Amino acid sequence: MKKCKLIQFRKDCIGCHACVLIAPQNWQMNNEEGKSDLIGGVTKGDTVVTDLLEIDYYDNLKAAEACPMNIIKVVCSD
Ligand code: SF4
Repeated sequence: MKKCKLIQFRKDCIGCHACVLIAPQNWQMNNEEGKSDLIGGVTKGDTVVTDLLEIDYYDNLKAAEACPMNIIKVVCSD
């Protein structure tokens, strides 16, 4: 099984809600900041990172495709 990380370059988030609608198990809106929060994510510089469960893989691929800023990445290694 692949190990995958879910990454958000949060600085550039415009708070469009797309990721929250597609994968609410991993994303929630932060209305004070006008950006989405990656649930359980750890901030590393300009990125927020968390491990991605296999069950959430396809939803987050869709979220990454839908993100108008192209700031969601799913990165996997064997
Ligand atoms: S889809 Fe992208 S721009 Fe929209 S809220 Fe999610 S991370 Fe931010």
